[in-house]
Amino acid sequence: MSAHFSQFPVLGFIHAAYFAVAVVFILGLKAMSSPVTARRGVVWAGYAMIAATVVTFAWPGMQNFGLMVLAIAIGTVVAWVSGKKVAMTDMPQMVAIYNGMGGGAAAAIAAVEFARGEMHGVVITLLATLGALIGAVSFSGSVVAWAKLQGVMKSAFRLPAQNAVNIVLALATVGLGAAIVIAPQIDPMLVGAFFVLALILGMVITLPIGGADMPVVISLFNAFTGLAVGFEGFVMGIPALIIAGIVVGAAGTLLTQLMAKAMNRPISNILFVPMAAAGGGEAVEGEQKEIGAMDAAAMMRYASKVIIIPGYGMAVAGAQHKVWEMTEMLEEAGVEVVFAIHPVAGRMPGHMNVLLAEAGVPYEKIFDLEEINGDFAQADVALVIGANDVVNPSARTDKSSPIFGMPILNADLAQNVIVVKRGKGTGYSGIENALFYKDNTRLLYGSAQQAIGEVIQHVKAMSV
Ligand code: NDP
Repeated sequence: MSAHFSQFPVLGFIHAAYFAVAVVFILGLKAMSSPVTARRGVVWAGYAMIAATVVTFAWPGMQNFGLMVLAIAIGTVVAWVSGKKVAMTDMPQMVAIYNGMGGGAAAAIAAVEFARGEMHGVVITLLATLGALIGAVSFSGSVVAWAKLQGVMKSAFRLPAQNAVNIVLALATVGLGAAIVIAPQIDPMLVGAFFVLALILGMVITLPIGGADMPVVISLFNAFTGLAVGFEGFVMGIPALIIAGIVVGAAGTLLTQLMAKAMNRPISNILFVPMAAAGGGEAVEGEQKEIGAMDAAAMMRYASKVIIIPGYGMAVAGAQHKVWEMTEMLEEAGVEVVFAIHPVAGRMPGHMNVLLAEAGVPYEKIFDLEEINGDFAQADVALVIGANDVVNPSARTDKSSPIFGMPILNADLAQNVIVVKRGKGTGYSGIENALFYKDNTRLLYGSAQQAIGEVIQHVKAMSV
């Protein structure tokens, strides 16, 4: 499918269109970096993808239009239905499976090129093989990640001598890949064995990873998929594919690094050291002290400053609208209310920012960890709504804790802490939280939407 610009006008038009598409991808990604413009960025990128797909039909010598239309129709229906139905809390597994499809598509492109048997030199064969390896690992790894997050596959599964198995498998796969590149002709047996090993490698790497590490792994596979697509773009001679792949690869790499940093888990630890191996942390002693909605309302209604810390529980309960309603009411009563967002609060980066934006919370009220952590000591109340790990003080002090070293929001330094949660459930890391047992902490039990709803009623009654 390699082509030259000299074959104007159709090829010139196609390449110009691809270039425009690549530019729109980059602009879309830029727009996605702010919650104000993110929706617009997604729509732009979507239109650009449609344009790229339509233009491809005009490629000289293109065949199998019926099959192409059928594949696009099936993909569109599946994506439309699942996109409409997916709950916000199931978004990570959705991202995992879509991302895996991208990796699989890149590997499939390489497989087709291998099947055609004409690779145009060592460099192209090398790029096709690299793309196939990375794409296949990303595909099977992402499917395992999806199965775990969806609950289809239970918890982490670790082989004896897991790291040694990983290394042997990786070396064997790379060895087969090298054999494909240096062989004078494409050998179908070799190619088949290479793909099987690459797929097994992706599964074996991902199986032992569990719990809170999984979204970081998904982001890593996302970066892999970008890289694989970029390599296959070179093989096919399509600049738009190269640019799109590089953009996804770079964005995925940055995101992976950001998440790993926010959880204080180096990528190598995530891939090779299971979280459980770090231990369950020190036992927490004491009792949780309950507070009723009326007392919680009074504590906040007569405070000067309240810092709200939303977490995964607020997302599950869909309580963001009630939280904003309560905030506006407290502000009318003269209370300063701001929001503190931890970079890994919820189940995906930006999870809380998206929910609060959806509820209408102005951006100037929302602060990142570094911006707000110094303010907790001056706050009368830290209101923790369905957050747990991101406010666990043992991350600062308990070296045996699996989240030791993760930067946390300093809710424990506020004068008073109110925690809204349903019961004694742990957070994502599965460990107990000493904050909930502190003298200045009170637990307001209930699902976040209902609990904040009750607080609103009491604040209202106090304000008339
Ligand atoms: P956590 O998962 O630590 O805690 C959530 C808490 O919400 C639970 O203790 C639960 O307690 C409570 N809860 C659940 N449902 C409700 C409800 N309906 N109403 C009120 N409370 C509820 O959440 P955090 O946001 O603090 O932390 C996120 C975790 O996810 C971290 O460990 C982070 O590392 C991990 N993670 C996040 C990623 C991201 O990108 N955001 C990526 C990877 C991992 P109870 O059952 O008692 O109600």
